[in-house]
Amino acid sequence: MDIRIEKTTTPKQKPGSDNPLVFGTIFTDHMFEMDYTEGIGWHDARIVPYHKLELEPSSMVFHYGQEMFEGLKAYKTDDGRILLFRPDKNAQRANRSNKRLCIPYIPEGLFVESIKAVVSVDRDWIPTKPGTSLYIRPFVIATDPFLGVRPSHTYKYMVILSPVGAYYESGLDPVKIWIEDEYVRAVKGGIGEAKTGGNYAASLASQVKAHDEGYAQVLWLDGVHRKYIEEVGSMNIFFKINGTVVTPELNGSILPGVTRDSVLELCREWGIPTEEKRISVDEIVEAARTGAMEECFGTGTAAVISPVGELRYEQELMPIGGGQIGPVTQRLYDTITGIQLGRIEGPKGWSVEVK
Ligand SMILES: *Cc1c(COP(=O)(O)O)cnc(C)c1O
Repeated sequence: MDIRIEKTTTPKQKPGSDNPLVFGTIFTDHMFEMDYTEGIGWHDARIVPYHKLELEPSSMVFHYGQEMFEGLKAYKTDDGRILLFRPDKNAQRANRSNKRLCIPYIPEGLFVESIKAVVSVDRDWIPTKPGTSLYIRPFVIATDPFLGVRPSHTYKYMVILSPVGAYYESGLDPVKIWIEDEYVRAVKGGIGEAKTGGNYAASLASQVKAHDEGYAQVLWLDGVHRKYIEEVGSMNIFFKINGTVVTPELNGSILPGVTRDSVLELCREWGIPTEEKRISVDEIVEAARTGAMEECFGTGTAAVISPVGELRYEQELMPIGGGQIGPVTQRLYDTITGIQLGRIEGPKGWSVEVK
């Protein structure tokens, strides 16, 4: 599909290199946009100036939440090349989410092309200070002006870009995590394994509660038994227990993270034993009490690897690693960010260049 390009005549002021770039607050000059009409398919692929949308208040996305989103980053290498990290994985996951949400399939080549095209146009917006990158947010919304409940017949797919800073200003910083025993996020058979706004709407009340208690993030338990570990707000969770790196298996209610998959692949390559399995919160409490819990970290595009310094479950406070970042946590962070910045050669196909 041809992508029409209309460049802005009023470019915005780019943030200076001393701007802290608070996550998701600044947007670039352009966006990618394309429409879907039943019977025609995806059409009118275009890069246009970043702009406000005009939508009917009755647009279905506002009422029933039929939408899908993705998240990945572009990085500038030391020699000025632009790299994406495993964008094909995001394309595949976008379509798994689309399928679950009755949103039409987006050809995966077109999905990756849309990202490359808009990143290329706004290449001068990619920040270069250590830890910074250009966050990429592809998403689809249902646009039929209709209050009945059914899949929409029309959609809009967009890609917007946001320069973002280092997730942790002072490098890697261990976070405190609240294990939620009241609210649940998702159940198998629901939409937990789709990347969609509804899961986040379900998460807010718990997040507010955790923040009030002084915790940065929520760790969800399964929705049926409230007993098995699922994932953190926008990250998958890993534990290193007695030398083995364990993470909950993909059970139908957690998000299959690209970073999660990358961590498992690197650990296997390094000869570190890994296990994807059902993990009960009791096992975690036990491992923390006996000292078998060596490391704990979250994985996701925004923070890449996020060391966990404390878990809290009911009245049980579980400090992990004595305020230090574990060696495997650090090695994973250094390796993945090294691959993303083109300083380390990663497995075949992980780095995709934007020309
Ligand atoms: C996006 C997301 C993740 C992390 O996925 P990555 O592909 O590693 O960025 C984990 N959990 C949820 C709920 C998410 O939305």
